[in-house]
Amino acid sequence: MHKIGIDLGGTKIEGILLDEKYNTIQRKRIETHQENGYDSIVKSMVSLVNELKEKTGEKTSVGICTPGVTNAKSGLIKNSNTQCLIGMPLKNDIENALGHEIVMENDANCFTLAESSLGSAKGYDVVFGVIMGTGVGGGIVINGTLHKGRTNIAGEWGHHTIRPDGNECYCGKQGCVEAYISGPALEKRWLEVTRKKEPLKSIVQDLSSEKADQWKKELLENFGIGLANVIDVLDPDVIVLGGGVSNIPFLYDEGKKAVYDKVFSDSIETPILKNSLGDSAGVFGACLLNG
Ligand SMILES: [Zn+2]
Repeated sequence: MHKIGIDLGGTKIEGILLDEKYNTIQRKRIETHQENGYDSIVKSMVSLVNELKEKTGEKTSVGICTPGVTNAKSGLIKNSNTQCLIGMPLKNDIENALGHEIVMENDANCFTLAESSLGSAKGYDVVFGVIMGTGVGGGIVINGTLHKGRTNIAGEWGHHTIRPDGNECYCGKQGCVEAYISGPALEKRWLEVTRKKEPLKSIVQDLSSEKADQWKKELLENFGIGLANVIDVLDPDVIVLGGGVSNIPFLYDEGKKAVYDKVFSDSIETPILKNSLGDSAGVFGACLLNG
């Protein structure tokens, strides 16, 4: 069976059609146009699926990667940075429009599935996939299968509390991992420490000053605590990093050491790897939701 994967992002919707060997038959990107509202996003996604279906005479499965989690009971989207989706029955509405079932998962789960099957984490049994971007999320794949958990929140390490009286998080708690090591949190902290407003990309170009050193030490400390907590519970065979923050080179040597220093074991050797699929993890992961 051919597979269609759709990756719904805040600014673009990407669709891909793969054959059974995961070769790309067709790929297309369109604008999300959040400003036109929920109905228009659903319409765009459905017409993209239908357009891809026309490129094949075969039966197709459809998987969708979304920002935010679908509530396991109600089927409504929650915790999405594409805010017009919040509280909406996205899966149901797309299924009604297409006339058949689809599979839908959040972006961190799709990322982990893609990297464990086709990317850097291929060949490892227990994979913890990390997204460090606008938000911080994670997913768990065990022997090729997504581990979602009883309430669909398995892997959500971004909202572990690392500082009970710390930075406020949009989720209502204080001191979440996300409130320290997401891209926006790191840029905000840089502004506080150096009084300079800079994007993360340029921040990490030159970390030679004393203030930059402080910023980096804090990042390493928080990254170390966050991932050491995950290893202590899951002890994965590999951790693979994605999202804009994963482009910081020192996470793979000094960052890894900061994690190892805090793990409850004296013989830790868990590989911490950079993703290899980049932005494509979403669409491939969406396809893989259907096996
Ligand atoms: Zn939080």
